[in-house]
Amino acid sequence: MAKVLLLGAGYGGMAAAVNMQKRRIPFTIINKHSYHYFTTLLHEPAGGRNDFDPYYVELSDILNSKEVTIVKDLVKEIRPKEKKVITEKGEYEFDYLIFALGNAPEFFGIPGLAEHSLLLRSLNTAKEIRSHIEEMFAEYAADKDPARLRIVVGGAGLTGVELCGELAEYLPHLASKFHIPDSKIELINLEAAPTILPMLDKGLQEEALHQLSKHGVQVRTNEKIVRVDQDLVELATGEQIHAKTIIWTGGVRANPLLQEAGFDCDPRGRAKVNEYLQSVNYSNIFVLGDSACFVGEDGRPLPPTAQLAQQMGQHVVDNIVAITNGQPLKPFSFHYMGTLASLGSDIGVGNVKGMRIKRSVAALMKEASKAKWLLTIGGIGLLAKKNRQFTKSV
Ligand SMILES: Cc1cc2nc3c(=O)[nH]c(=O)nc-3n(C[C@H](O)[C@H](O)[C@H](O)COP(=O)(O)OP(=O)(O)OC[C@H]3O[C@@H](n4cnc5c(N)ncnc54)[C@H](O)[C@@H]3O)c2cc1C
Repeated sequence: MAKVLLLGAGYGGMAAAVNMQKRRIPFTIINKHSYHYFTTLLHEPAGGRNDFDPYYVELSDILNSKEVTIVKDLVKEIRPKEKKVITEKGEYEFDYLIFALGNAPEFFGIPGLAEHSLLLRSLNTAKEIRSHIEEMFAEYAADKDPARLRIVVGGAGLTGVELCGELAEYLPHLASKFHIPDSKIELINLEAAPTILPMLDKGLQEEALHQLSKHGVQVRTNEKIVRVDQDLVELATGEQIHAKTIIWTGGVRANPLLQEAGFDCDPRGRAKVNEYLQSVNYSNIFVLGDSACFVGEDGRPLPPTAQLAQQMGQHVVDNIVAITNGQPLKPFSFHYMGTLASLGSDIGVGNVKGMRIKRSVAALMKEASKAKWLLTIGGIGLLAKKNRQFTKSV
C-alpha cells in the first residue's frame, strides 16, 4: 500500500487529514504540536477576549489513531529524491507527500524587527502577546513609563486590524484593573501601504478605519518602519516611537524548508505547483496552503488564506486517490467565499459571496465561519464542545 505522509496540521493539513480519514486512506501526519489551533481566531485570545482552551483541539480527538499515525515532531528537512522527511526525532519515508507546513514571518530586511517584535502565529505566541501586555500594565505603577502603555502593531492586513480591534476593546478593562486612566493607553497601527485591509473595497476599508478610530486606535497609513530596536520603532520620516510592546503582523513567506530542499519557488519562497497542486519538480509531492504558489486566473499567485488552504487540502486527497486508481487528475480551482475582518467581539466588516456586510452582521458571519470549520473537522460533537468552552471562558 502506498505510504502517504502529511506534514502540518493547520487549515490545509486538517482538511486533507479529514478527507483521507473519511475515505479510509491510511496515512501518517507529522506536526510540531499534538493539537490543531485556529489561527484565524488567534487575535481573540491574544487580545484578551477569551481563555485559550476553546482555540485548539487535540489531533487525537479528531483523527482515529487506529488508522492514522499521529506524530508530534518537528520537520527539519525534506529529501525529495530519496522520498524521505527528516525530523528532530527520526526519519519518515513516503510514496506521496503532502506539504502543508504553512508560513514563516517576512521581515522585509528591516533591521531589528525579527529580534525585537512579538508575532501572532500560534497559540503560544498569542499567549506571549497577552501575558506581555498584562505584565507591562502591571509594572506601570512602579515607574510610570508611558512606553509600557504604548502598543505598536506593524501591518494593517487582516491579522493586524483584527488584533487592534480586540485590543481596543480589552485594554480599557486591563487599565481599570490596574487603576490606570484610559487616556494613558496608546494603541498605534502602522501600515506602509496607503490603505488598510487591501482585500476589501474602499467603502469597507473606510468603515473599518472609522470603527477602529472610534475605539481609540491610531491607524497610520503610508508609514514605513525602517528600524526596530529594544522598545523603539523608527519610521522613514525619522520619527521614533518608544513602545515596550511591538507586534509585527506585516507579512509572511512560505516555510523555508521548501527552498532549502531545492524546490522551484517564487520570491516569497512558495513552491510552484501545477494545476493539480503537484510540485512542478516532483509529481508525488503536493504542496498546499501558505506554502504553495498557485497561479490564479489573473496570472498572479493566489494570496495565502485559510479558505484557500482548506480547499487545497480537500483537493490534493482527491488527486492522490485518482493517481492510485489510475484515473485522470482533476485541476484545482479556487472558490472565493469572501473575507471577514472582526473589529472586536461584536462588530466587523467584510464581503461574503459578493455581498458587502458591516458591523454586527459581519461579526455574526465570522462566528458562523468559526462554526463551519468546527463542523468540517469534528462534526457536531466538536462544535458543541467548543461552544461550551467559548461560553464558559467569556
Ligand atoms: C491572526 C490571524 C488571522 C487570520 N485571519 C484569517 C481570516 O480571517 N481568513 C483567512 O482566510 N485567513 C486568515 N489568516 C491566514 C490563515 O490563518 C493562513 O492563511 C492559514 O493558516 C494557512 O494554512 P496552512 O495550512 O497553509 O498553514 P497553517 O494553518 O499555518 O498550518 C501549518 C501547520 O504546520 C505546523 N508546522 C510548521 N512548521 C513545522 C515544522 N517544521 N514541523 C512540524 N510542524 C510544523 C504548524 O504548527 C501548523 O500546525 C489569518 C492569520 C492570522 C495569523
